[in-house]
Amino acid sequence: MIQDIAPHRYDVAYRMPEAGENDRMLIYNKGGLLCRVEEDSVSYPSVGAIAEVYPDIYKEAAFFFRIDDRNYFGLLNAEFGPMENYFFLPKEKLRSVRPIWKAFAGITGFQLHNWYAANRYCSSCRTKMQHHGRERALVCPDCGKIIYPQICPGVIVGVINKDRILMTKYAVSHSKFKKYALVAGYTEVGESLEDTVRREVMEEVGLKVKNIRYYKSQPWSFTDTLLTGFFCDVDGSPEIKMDEEELSAAEWFGRDEIPPERSEAEVSLTGEMIDAFLKNQI
Ligand SMILES: [Zn+2]
Repeated sequence: MIQDIAPHRYDVAYRMPEAGENDRMLIYNKGGLLCRVEEDSVSYPSVGAIAEVYPDIYKEAAFFFRIDDRNYFGLLNAEFGPMENYFFLPKEKLRSVRPIWKAFAGITGFQLHNWYAANRYCSSCRTKMQHHGRERALVCPDCGKIIYPQICPGVIVGVINKDRILMTKYAVSHSKFKKYALVAGYTEVGESLEDTVRREVMEEVGLKVKNIRYYKSQPWSFTDTLLTGFFCDVDGSPEIKMDEEELSAAEWFGRDEIPPERSEAEVSLTGEMIDAFLKNQI
């Protein structure tokens, strides 16, 4: 999965270091990330390289996180245009660039950037927000409102019927993702993750489920989400009643029938769960 970056180490502990010239800048503009891609390998500009065209960067860089011994910073309040040898890569392409740990850095920074950008002003009194200073939060100096990064919980569900797994495809109107995936959905207010599993499976394919068991979780910064993966068994009839507004396909597959055009295990929890079923690890 995209967050499995060992032997590299992701460290998100909040601190306020000064930017150094060899640190990296994650600069976003209209859903794209400033980067260079050479022979399928992505890289991000150093603080020093940005300083040559934008000298204020040392004052304005905001700490995002650290990977190994290198700090990654964002530029929160300035527009930044094109730069020689770099271009803005659409965020969806971060699923396919490598190495995977740099793709993870790029999409994780995207979530942080969007959160900061959406909260420049207090939603209660319109005063400019300030960094909290001791934790990842923004505080309103006027009314005292504190906000934390938005992380939406959601579930991925591997529904099993004996030796078959249920795989689905989104309707074109619902998602740009065209490959096979698993039942998925966001948790509603007042709902447990297990209840989300039951509700989403019922809504999408009309099945009752039992034996809900946790598999793994995944931060999915493409959509500000924390995904939780569960496997479960069909309770009663395995006859599918597909929600045709959300899905274009919902079918049972045996281990030797799993289609190759599916979510990739190297990137997504969905893909890893399908592979775990395929390899008889479930
Ligand atoms: Zn306020």
